[in-house]
Amino acid sequence: MQKIKGSCLCSAVSFEVVKAFDKLFFCSCDQCRRITGSAFASNLFVGADGFNWLGGVEDIVSYQVPGRGISKTFCRICGSGVPWSSDDGSKVIVPAGSLHGEPDVAERIRIFAAEQPSWSSGLEQINPHPGFPS
Ligand SMILES: [Zn+2]
Ligand SMILES: [Zn+2]
Repeated sequence: MQKIKGSCLCSAVSFEVVKAFDKLFFCSCDQCRRITGSAFASNLFVGADGFNWLGGVEDIVSYQVPGRGISKTFCRICGSGVPWSSDDGSKVIVPAGSLHGEPDVAERIRIFAAEQPSWSSGLEQINPHPGFPS
């Protein structure tokens, strides 16, 4: 069984996932672009029985996007996105970048791809540097 930990940037909020993730969604919808300040959100889904908070629940702040099952849920100290529960509580949505390791994911799916900005397309064709360019 997979066990992987995650946290916000300042480590006040921490959690663990003890089951494999069902799906990884890359979402470029208008709300996810604004929530992340980037081209798309990278959110993993796991059953609520596979997720445990380890600390910092009192430091979590949430903004519910009106009319959508989307929240911006973040650490009030450092502002990092942290996991949140689906509307019915059956799933937990985990921002993939908050994990400390490589998750096992059954399926990766791009959604609202028509709304992905052109400046983020073709990333594989952009010359990669291991750190800052020299
Ligand atoms: Zn934090
Ligand atoms: Zn979205």
